[in-house]
Amino acid sequence: MLNIVLFGPPGAGKGTQSANLVNKYQLVHLSTGDIFRFNIKNETALGQLAKSYMDKGNLVPDEVTINMLEAEVEKYTDAKGFIFDGFPRTTAQAQALDAFLEKKETVISLMLALEVGEDELVKRLLIRGQDSGRADDTDESIIRNRINVYNEQTAVAAEFYNAQGKYHAINGVGTVEEIFGRLSSIIGEASQ
Ligand code: ADP
Repeated sequence: MLNIVLFGPPGAGKGTQSANLVNKYQLVHLSTGDIFRFNIKNETALGQLAKSYMDKGNLVPDEVTINMLEAEVEKYTDAKGFIFDGFPRTTAQAQALDAFLEKKETVISLMLALEVGEDELVKRLLIRGQDSGRADDTDESIIRNRINVYNEQTAVAAEFYNAQGKYHAINGVGTVEEIFGRLSSIIGEASQ
């Protein structure tokens, strides 16, 4: 299996690049943010809980997120692999994912981390907020909080994969095609 963690701060381009990677490598794309938004739209109990955190730009608690992600993975019994987008976002989530995949006799193949500077991130998110309908993309103070949460709670999760020799940083500034080319060449090298 090819299991990729696509990593990076809010607005780094994880969703955009996931769509390209799914096409090229026939992977299942699991975005925890998308799954939470689906639950909010459908007014589930999980959605209601997640919304209270997401609207402020804070992380949904680990236990809730981990249980949800594992239940999603279980739905795809014949997947060739997964792209985890927006997960793991804490070291505890990374540890839980490793333990879960071990039970399924598979592992994370690599973490691809998109790097983009803060000013560029804020600019991109405010533009996205103009038509995405996402409340967390329209208010600059919420955007800044999400970036702070990333720096304080999420960035450390990269260390977990670095220690396993699976971490790859990618310049996330450029055209969508250029960045996709960078990602593909790392996947190509890693799967040889
Ligand atoms: P972005 O990468 O632009 O922040 P996402 O759709 O990945 O967008 O996440 C939106 C929000 O969903 C986050 O700010 C957070 O509240 C919640 N969320 C998504 N993934 C996780 C996760 N793995 N753990 C905790 N909260 C999460």
